Amino acid sequence: MKQYSESLYPTWGQQFAVDEVLFEHQTDHQHLVIFKNQQWGTVMALDGVIQTTEKDEFVYHEMMTHVPILAHGSVQKVLIIGGGDGGILREVLRHKTVERVVQVEIDQAVIDMCVQYLPGHSDGAFTDPRAEVIIKDGVEFVADCEEQFDVIISDSTDPIGPGEVLFTSAFYQGVKRCLKPGGVFVAQNGVSFMQLDEVTTTYQRLSPEFDQVAFYAAAVPTYVGGVMTFAWATDNPDLTKMNRQTITQRYQASGLQCRYYQPELHIGAFALPRYIVQAIEDLN
Ligand code: SAM
Repeated sequence: MKQYSESLYPTWGQQFAVDEVLFEHQTDHQHLVIFKNQQWGTVMALDGVIQTTEKDEFVYHEMMTHVPILAHGSVQKVLIIGGGDGGILREVLRHKTVERVVQVEIDQAVIDMCVQYLPGHSDGAFTDPRAEVIIKDGVEFVADCEEQFDVIISDSTDPIGPGEVLFTSAFYQGVKRCLKPGGVFVAQNGVSFMQLDEVTTTYQRLSPEFDQVAFYAAAVPTYVGGVMTFAWATDNPDLTKMNRQTITQRYQASGLQCRYYQPELHIGAFALPRYIVQAIEDLN
């Protein structure tokens, strides 16, 4: 039985029994592999790092979309950076208020192979008339985009390889210029117990651009090492002061039926472990 070993950490990592390799290729930007595993279903990895699995993708995709969208309350336009598997696009398009989604993904091969081998992730989202997919580096797109968005979601790989630029001040400055007043930016920000420097670095780079920088957390089983954090940045701090009743009313009105997200969890996700709060306090 072939094994797939994640190589994110040099001295520790998770391993998958590979029942079948569905696709493996060095694209123009990264090494892409998609394989089947009895426990997790179909799994996709980029440059040796697990990106998504059939079994637990709902956790990440629900928390990365419904928290900012329901906190905002009247989202019409969304920008997705990365997200080639289509899970974020699928969840964003579940919101009836959303009129337009622009997705900027650097690697067409990720989209094509995930549509073919992980069809449940996008579930037809790439053909939704509200969606526009642009193949481009996200940092270049936000540098000269003339359009503005209510919510911007950076669903990137880790800050290695093509994803590295999506954790820079230049990218965050671009995000700021593409965000409508009162809008909110969220980003994949690593597993804090293993990548605490990603929290502090993101906090330091986002703080000069936004009035409020925060993080919220979720436990994604195949992002090993504990909870993962999502970076949150906005000039509208009221968005995190939403009470449970407001979020619940919005969730019910949306008609969403989620498997991980729920209003109480939305509120609670911003209550971070003490070691993360301490690391941020130590910066000030
Ligand atoms: N959920 C995953 C995680 O948390 O690691 C990320 C999933 S998604 C597959 C990551 C996407 O970011 C990939 O499709 C990759 O091609 C894309 N990406 C990486 N660097 C990029 C860049 N500079 N601009 C746009 N997309 C990028």
